Amino acid sequence: MEIFQILGDELIGFFGIKGWLNLFRTGDYSVLLTYEGIKSAIGPLIPLLLVIELIRALTYKRFKVSDYKVTMTAHVFNRFDSRFISIAAVAFCIGLLTPFAIFKSSFTWYWIIYGYVIWELAHFVYHFLAHKVRLLWCLHSAHHAPENMNLSVTFAHFFLEAPYADVIRTSICILLGVNPPLLFLIMFIDGTWGAFIHAGENLIKDGRLGFLNKIILTPSHHRVHHAKNPLYMDTNFCNLLNIWDRVFGTLQDERRGMKIEYGITREMNPNNFLDAYFGEIGALWKDVRKAPRLKHKLLYLVMPPGWSHTGEHKTAHIVRRAFLENEGSTIKREPLVVEEQ
Ligand SMILES: [Zn+2]
Ligand SMILES: [Zn+2]
Repeated sequence: MEIFQILGDELIGFFGIKGWLNLFRTGDYSVLLTYEGIKSAIGPLIPLLLVIELIRALTYKRFKVSDYKVTMTAHVFNRFDSRFISIAAVAFCIGLLTPFAIFKSSFTWYWIIYGYVIWELAHFVYHFLAHKVRLLWCLHSAHHAPENMNLSVTFAHFFLEAPYADVIRTSICILLGVNPPLLFLIMFIDGTWGAFIHAGENLIKDGRLGFLNKIILTPSHHRVHHAKNPLYMDTNFCNLLNIWDRVFGTLQDERRGMKIEYGITREMNPNNFLDAYFGEIGALWKDVRKAPRLKHKLLYLVMPPGWSHTGEHKTAHIVRRAFLENEGSTIKREPLVVEEQ
């Protein structure tokens, strides 16, 4: 019967309902006024939404096992190590870098705003590099491999990505004066929102969320980020506040009439876990091997995906620019066509 005990514990862990179970057991609702209490109360939200999304997909007969197979396999695969390495990495960075912080912040509302802006900057840096440095793309691409959007995509990550992301984000935040309690609160808000923006069309059809689309990053923006359409490639790197996407010119709204094509441009089998998880590493290895000189081999590691030693680059930047230039010339030509008619 041990197997049922293990399964039960896994389910309680996945749904994050330990806090609620303790609450009912002890009857001490005052914990809901503490940070830990709020955290454990909100914990089941994303898994619950995932279940609703699944039920809706089943109801509308749009449920496909393949939409969840690879993402959930990645989750199970990472279940045992990723989180522990990540927690250790965060603790290490805090211990190492706190003495070098440029100043000390406290736990007040204005420092929370400052901390969030800095956190978004740190997130932008991690995420931008994950798309622009081929070696780091190997860690991030498993998250972009799914060709459908749903909440389970939140769990699709290469096991070394979380430690990499947390080292970059924690280091920048600590050095720029975001103190650890503030950082943990921000990480919690960011983690919850970051999961929610993966809500697929089965849960929220129009991901723009009305006027919010103008102010913050919505599921619609993140759907654009997961798209391989030329216009959408390498855009919307932020998570909640879109300031840094505005500053660096990478903010892209979803266009009505342009259907989102999810996934990555490399030819792959999206239903094959090994291809989704390790495929980019294999592709990089092939390019490095065929590169004629050591300089080219090293450049393959650090240049953006799509860079080639032959000069025939197909990077996201080039593909997107070509699309916009082509679109610009088409728009310019169009009035002439109207006049001729
Ligand atoms: Zn990304
Ligand atoms: Zn995502």
